[in-house]
Amino acid sequence: MLSSKGYLSAKGTVNQIELGKDLLEYYSEELLVYLNCELKIGDNNCWLRLITSKHRSIFHPLKHILLLLFLNKSIDDIDEIKGEKYLPFGNGKYPCLNPAAEHYKQLCIDDVTLGRERNRGGKPRGLFECLLCGFSYSRIGPDNSEEDKYRYNKVINFGSVWFDKLKKLNEDGFTNKEIAKKLNVGVHTVWRYLNGFERKEIPKVSNKKVQNLKQRWLQLIEQNPTYSQNQIRNLDKGLYSSLYAIDSEWLKNNSPKSTVYSKGNKRVDWSKRDKDYLVQIKYAIEKIENLSPPQRVTLNRIENIANLSRLNKNLDKLPETNDYLSDKLESIEAFQLRRIKWAMDEIERSGEEITYSKVVMKANVYKASSNILDEIKKALGLDS
Ligand SMILES: [Zn+2]
Repeated sequence: MLSSKGYLSAKGTVNQIELGKDLLEYYSEELLVYLNCELKIGDNNCWLRLITSKHRSIFHPLKHILLLLFLNKSIDDIDEIKGEKYLPFGNGKYPCLNPAAEHYKQLCIDDVTLGRERNRGGKPRGLFECLLCGFSYSRIGPDNSEEDKYRYNKVINFGSVWFDKLKKLNEDGFTNKEIAKKLNVGVHTVWRYLNGFERKEIPKVSNKKVQNLKQRWLQLIEQNPTYSQNQIRNLDKGLYSSLYAIDSEWLKNNSPKSTVYSKGNKRVDWSKRDKDYLVQIKYAIEKIENLSPPQRVTLNRIENIANLSRLNKNLDKLPETNDYLSDKLESIEAFQLRRIKWAMDEIERSGEEITYSKVVMKANVYKASSNILDEIKKALGLDS
């Protein structure tokens, strides 16, 4: 209710001063004093501040009525609004607005990062980041219609797919003006990027998103253990370019190595190395086990997270590490079961009824053996 009048920040706090001033102007000080409802703007004990904060106190009905009249709402509206979370951009998903991407206008952005405008009366501002192509944009809210979802105020980052398209169009001989039209930007932007003025811009992708991208890259490697870096890259060029732009060093360290060179016969203290590795892999495994959705605990993934390579080649010299690993590495079945448990937890948390088909879908175990599928039935009491 307060949000629709612009008194609520994106984080959900009430702009007390603005609200107080406007209320005072609306009713006049004399009237409020006469009604014994005078305002002490800026005072923590002012009734207006208390009534609009989370409160357990009871207020004179007159105070509620004054506020409601001012907000131009009837008392009937309260139930409708009570308990509703403030979502200035509605619920996800949100579209990617990168005209260079194949998924243009498709709903592939899961969530929005909320902020607040400093200069426009504290209006909410959303940051929308597409993980598929690195394109991100911001929009001042709140949204008033479904069409608002397809509007942005500013492109924060164009991303690698957009860059590639720009280069391609340029090579294909389109004029800057034509390119600008195709990519939905001003000609000056095309010019700036083509002339390398923006080359060094580091994509401002948030940490969580970067982690997600890295996770996807590691997953591709794991699913294709025999592939070279180039082959992996061809599976998802957008992902590769995003990561290359964001953290090329990481990408270098976490790609299949083409050739492994032996560095001579330096003496290695294997016992010390065993202890060091153990600490590192324990940490990595804990990290993997806490991922949601769950990821299988595999040697490859552990190596990547712990930044160790060729661990399996030396396991015979690393007894403690080896023992711990053989205990923790997950078979496909063990992983499927863990995923099923996770799926049930997730469905339960969403308040939905847990059904067999929902669990299979959420856990992504369509192709699991009948033993595994029977476990779901058992868990749901469907076995006879
Ligand atoms: Zn995109």
